[in-house]
Amino acid sequence: MFKNIETIKNADLKSYNTFKIGGRGTIVFPKNIYELKRVIKECKNNGLDYFILGNGSNLLFPDYDLEKILISLKYFDKITEKKSGIYIEAGVNIYALNNFCLMNKFDGLEWSFGIPASFGGLVYMNGGAYGHTIFDFIKRIKILKDDKIIWLKKYDIPFSYRKSNIEGIILGAEVKLKKTDENIIKEKQRYYFECRKKSQPLNYPSAGSVFKRTNDLIPAKLIDSLNLKGTKIGGAEISKKHAGFIINVDNAKSIDVRALIDYVKNKAGIDFEEEIILLN
Ligand SMILES: Cc1cc2nc3c(=O)[nH]c(=O)nc-3n(C[C@H](O)[C@H](O)[C@H](O)COP(=O)(O)OP(=O)(O)OC[C@H]3O[C@@H](n4cnc5c(N)ncnc54)[C@H](O)[C@@H]3O)c2cc1C
Repeated sequence: MFKNIETIKNADLKSYNTFKIGGRGTIVFPKNIYELKRVIKECKNNGLDYFILGNGSNLLFPDYDLEKILISLKYFDKITEKKSGIYIEAGVNIYALNNFCLMNKFDGLEWSFGIPASFGGLVYMNGGAYGHTIFDFIKRIKILKDDKIIWLKKYDIPFSYRKSNIEGIILGAEVKLKKTDENIIKEKQRYYFECRKKSQPLNYPSAGSVFKRTNDLIPAKLIDSLNLKGTKIGGAEISKKHAGFIINVDNAKSIDVRALIDYVKNKAGIDFEEEIILLN
């Protein structure tokens, strides 16, 4: 299977997610759309499930070996200037995107500086921060669905909070951005990163906020009010700095994080919806 396509079998999945948790699995790295289509076809022909892996910053892998084939789009990493913005491929890292914006004087995405994601993952999750989300800037999205390449216009996509509801593989997207002075961009990036450092436990592995907020409920506030900060199961701990984060303090296992999630739900008496994706 996947002949002549870069593949890592028996990969240690701990190295492919920001939680640093997981068993082993197979990761395929198609270099272009033809290879990507072939990987999908071969998965289907062999009855194998596949899962698109971004930067693994919103995932919790199981401790056992994953049967699903992970497909990484890290080679889809080009950014191209367009008339009133840029086209960004799915595998572009958000740090690289911010660097490109700074170098080319594109203003608007500074709030994303410090999110350890790929662009495809940010779009899929409708990621956001400090009052902005990526969908505020999206014009249209290029996806691969049923072996066809399709352009989706923003308003044809039923996106919601931290959810794009996109069915298909995101190949890239056009975003609308204005040009401005690079010092303004630099200052905004610095400011947002400082905010992040102040509020988030960036010195420990995590997958960001574990639970989704809703209009009426901010899980981190409730968890804090229940004095659950610092609660530990195995190597997983509710961050003392940000109650919405579970951090890996000591070789945490997936089951530790899952048990801590259940513990929080029980204590709060609320079946919070997870923002992180739990893979089985
Ligand atoms: C320290 C830290 C801070 C964070 N801060 C924020 C924040 O401020 N705001 C925020 O919104 N999130 C934040 N997150 C969470 C996370 O970074 C986001 O959810 C991000 O969008 C996930 O992107 P990823 O590339 O890592 O995707 P992954 O975690 O690899 O995958 C997430 C989902 O996206 C899907 N996916 C990925 N790429 C594609 C594609 N090309 N096509 C289709 N589906 C795809 C995957 O299949 C999976 O379902 C933070 C995480 C950490 C660890």
